Amino acid sequence: MATEKKSPNQELQEKLSVKKESAWLLLKDKVNDIYDFAEEYKQFIGKNKTERLCVRSMVEMLKQKNYKDIQTVSKLLKGDAVYKNIKGKSLIACKIGSDPTKIRIIGAHIDSPRLDLKPYPLYEDAEVALLKSHYYGGIKKYQWVNIPLAIHGVAFAKDGHCVEIHIGENHDEPRFIIPDLLPHLAKDQMKKTGENIIEGEELNILFAHIPIDDKEIKEKIKLNVLQYLYNTYGLVEEDFIAADIELVPAMQPVDIGIDRGLIAAYGQDDKACAYTAWKAIVDADNCKDTVIMYLADREEIGSMGDTGAESFVFIHFMREYIRKTGITATWDELLEGALSISADVTGALDPTFKNVNDPNNVSYLGHGVSIEKYGGRGGKYSTSEAHAEYMQFLRSLADKHKIPWQTGEQGKIDMGGGGTIAMFMSRYGMDCVDVGPCMLGMHSPYEVTSKVDIYCTYLIYKAFFED
Ligand code: MN
Ligand code: MN
Repeated sequence: MATEKKSPNQELQEKLSVKKESAWLLLKDKVNDIYDFAEEYKQFIGKNKTERLCVRSMVEMLKQKNYKDIQTVSKLLKGDAVYKNIKGKSLIACKIGSDPTKIRIIGAHIDSPRLDLKPYPLYEDAEVALLKSHYYGGIKKYQWVNIPLAIHGVAFAKDGHCVEIHIGENHDEPRFIIPDLLPHLAKDQMKKTGENIIEGEELNILFAHIPIDDKEIKEKIKLNVLQYLYNTYGLVEEDFIAADIELVPAMQPVDIGIDRGLIAAYGQDDKACAYTAWKAIVDADNCKDTVIMYLADREEIGSMGDTGAESFVFIHFMREYIRKTGITATWDELLEGALSISADVTGALDPTFKNVNDPNNVSYLGHGVSIEKYGGRGGKYSTSEAHAEYMQFLRSLADKHKIPWQTGEQGKIDMGGGGTIAMFMSRYGMDCVDVGPCMLGMHSPYEVTSKVDIYCTYLIYKAFFED
């Protein structure tokens, strides 16, 4: 069949206009790879819902790839691979390049919005025992009621021994739940604004129900719980103070859609980027520059704290790196000259809520990895902005490796917004830009991404390390 000849203006349009196409079509020969990648990814995020679990698994996975704890190594040579475990909640992995004075960094975060327990969480009321929680990160509180929750955490007994608590991920284990008010009696509640439909102090988690059999005891269910915790873990009520205990959605990652093109899972912000960054650093071959994966904690609450990207931990790592590689540069020189990616997710255009976005300047599910010049909020506050030169560098990197990519803004101007660790990484003077997949339902208990975008994210991280 003869192809129709294009008119001069059609040719002109093709040459001059931006093309926006589904990455599923651009990568149609790679569909099996995309699906296989998604399965491994789902396995990882289903098993590693908290920052502690994430660090532990990552360290194990790095060790299998011959990465060594940097503390156990006195000299770093080309090709060596090391990691630094930061209090079990944040992680740096590093592979020494042939030129150790050149650094490339991909920084993601491994904390996700969730419900933490208060210092004195346990109480009894209306024939049940409950746990008071304090939410962590920017959530719509009403989304966290009526869903099965799992518990993950560590606690210390008074004698100093540490116990781990994990309940609710296996099918034969119980779950926990925050029941919402029945609609029949919600007349006053339904008049409230969304922010207050469920209040912070109403995030009370059902924990137990059966009383101890003793007429003399006042809080019989609570005592039964305390007895269980003591018998099972050796913990007493006060030990909740020396604990990090988190409630997360108990659901496992699932495919969405009859074509299985999408994934719903908890914590994809930002384990989508943490997992792909890990895969990129272990798969990257023959790196000229030293490549670093940085997985930060505390991003969802502003990156503050000793395990957050605002801390000086990264500098400490660079000092150790310099000492052990024996190079003469200082850490500030190295970091100022570094190239970096702030690996984080962004919002996709939601077909039901299109009015919050400028349709020309938003990411679309399935259009490949999003490279965002800036994030923040109205007037470009609370963000760093990649300069033209660096955008050019990344765009040509993606094009050279034929990786589908797109760009956008988080939302309409003055509609809201959000930050990433880009502003903390760029403080050193390094080039930095936000790169990651877009998603629907961000910060909800079940976030939705496209499998092809996750795959493209991996491809560009790997290309960034290898190029
Ligand atoms: Mn994020
Ligand atoms: Mn977030």
